[in-house]
Amino acid sequence: MGLSPAHQLLHTSQQMAALGLNRGTSGNASIRLDDGFLVTPSGVPPSALTVDSMVYMDWDGQPEAGKRPSSEWRFHRDLLLARPEQHAVVHCHSPFATSLACLSLDVPAFHYMIAVAGGNNIRCAPYALFGSQALSDVAVAALVDRKACLLAHHGMIALGTTLAQALALAVEVETLCEQYWRILSLGTPPLLSDEQMQAVHEQFKGYGAWKSDA
Ligand code: 13P
Ligand code: ZN
Repeated sequence: MGLSPAHQLLHTSQQMAALGLNRGTSGNASIRLDDGFLVTPSGVPPSALTVDSMVYMDWDGQPEAGKRPSSEWRFHRDLLLARPEQHAVVHCHSPFATSLACLSLDVPAFHYMIAVAGGNNIRCAPYALFGSQALSDVAVAALVDRKACLLAHHGMIALGTTLAQALALAVEVETLCEQYWRILSLGTPPLLSDEQMQAVHEQFKGYGAWKSDA
């Protein structure tokens, strides 16, 4: 039998810390339920989380009594509603993605693995205040036809059909951002063409964890 949604959220939060994607209380995660979603609580470090810490919310954004959901519940709700094919959202302030996001940089097709985020670049959403509806709106827009984006002066978001998929994508985006950060210190890389990237998207159909249904 698989882990319950609350156990999956606990495991994902602990993994984000163990993998160095989040420190302290930064970052959060959510998973779709039938009639709403389950999200991590606000301001609790992974070391202090339990399965009972996780907060159920309905689609109107009403949390279960006595619990305080992540300050970012709006983008978790709005992304789960806007993207019915995705069932999990992770958000982190990982060092390399956040460094590029502080330059408001889109990450272009410098490497073929950019395709795992769903397109030919990883967009950086413009800055908006953490926890605001404005941040949710720019995140939803930056994630159109994508499964990951950067958030200017903040961090990144990754989507998945499962929490494990979303976490794996966050790790890959962080890896790509580290590579791009290193490359930018050497010079300006040539980019793969749209034709070359189209061939990559084709090649990924049916490939391992990144297989697309398209
Ligand atoms: P929460 O602790 O409220 O989830 O906030 C962390 C965060 O990353 C805000 O963007
Ligand atoms: Zn954040």
